[in-house]
Amino acid sequence: MTRPIYVGSLCIGGDAPIVVQSMTNTNTRDVDATVTQIRQLEHAGCELVRVAVPDLASAAALTHIRERIGIPLVADIHFDHRIALASIQAGVDKLRLNPGNITDPKKIIEVVEAAAAAKIPIRVGANSGSMAKEYLDKDGHVTAQGMVASAMAQVRLLEAHRFEQIIISLKGTDVPMTLAAYRMMAHEVDYPLHIGITEAGTSWEGGLRSAVGLGVLLEQGIGDTVRVSLTGDPVEEVRVAYAILRALNLRQRGITFRICPTCGRTGIALEKIAIAVQDAVRDLNVRLTVAMMGCVVNGLGEAREADVGLVGATGRATIYVHGEPAAVNVAEAELIERMVSTIRDLAGGNQP
Ligand code: SF4
Repeated sequence: MTRPIYVGSLCIGGDAPIVVQSMTNTNTRDVDATVTQIRQLEHAGCELVRVAVPDLASAAALTHIRERIGIPLVADIHFDHRIALASIQAGVDKLRLNPGNITDPKKIIEVVEAAAAAKIPIRVGANSGSMAKEYLDKDGHVTAQGMVASAMAQVRLLEAHRFEQIIISLKGTDVPMTLAAYRMMAHEVDYPLHIGITEAGTSWEGGLRSAVGLGVLLEQGIGDTVRVSLTGDPVEEVRVAYAILRALNLRQRGITFRICPTCGRTGIALEKIAIAVQDAVRDLNVRLTVAMMGCVVNGLGEAREADVGLVGATGRATIYVHGEPAAVNVAEAELIERMVSTIRDLAGGNQP
């Protein structure tokens, strides 16, 4: 088990639940836009948020952002250690430093001393796209060993200055290489690991790449906090992260849906109904299982197991609640509305 590290009051590592985090894509200097996006992320279940801090003006905005949000704030720093110092001054809850582009030990130590005084942790965040040259192989390529060595060099420097509030990430774009790097690191240290597949892509492909990479690691007990990196609205990152964690029974936020793939027996427009119902109840943070099935073949069994079940027939369906028929032979045109109201009614008594 990893050692617990606190980011504000949020525990990462130890036996704490796996933390879901994301990163804004607004201009950090635009405080209103950044706060609005962080609140959307928070509403979706994001527990820790990182913002890019490319310059001192962005660092100055952090104070105003921090006082208007409810989750811990992480400053993402590259190249310039003075921005890290300014971010600590602004009151952030954690720093991310990139060992690939802040390499001068004296500058790193300055940051470490300031972080220790402010009692905030540092994530040593190696990324395959920004590795220092000495950690590439002889042909100039990134390797799992190189990523681990790069991160470990910075970790040892922090430790040499008695700083152990450390979280580590080793994000690569290549999934097998990233898995190898995290496995090596998990053998090497007991610091919590922030896991992710970097630059995974847009929602569909990126979600799948992340699910494969994170799924394998999490199933092996590796990973204390996850960030799904997707191009686009970061709220989608949070949704995908929870879908991955739900699939492994690691976190239960949100409704678990079981929907049949449809076949020649399907007598209703199940895909359209399922999409509309999922969209309409996306805001609910409840532990419910909802099954939507095209016919009785697997439908009756799934409906019995689910909190709410829909079992289709030709042009109609029966809705089950806790395995018992609650509305029989509902016309197809009314199914979306009836399912949504049934789920919402049940959710009323299941809020966490
Ligand atoms: Fe086909 Fe029925 Fe199975 Fe859905 S539940 S895939 S409609 S047999």
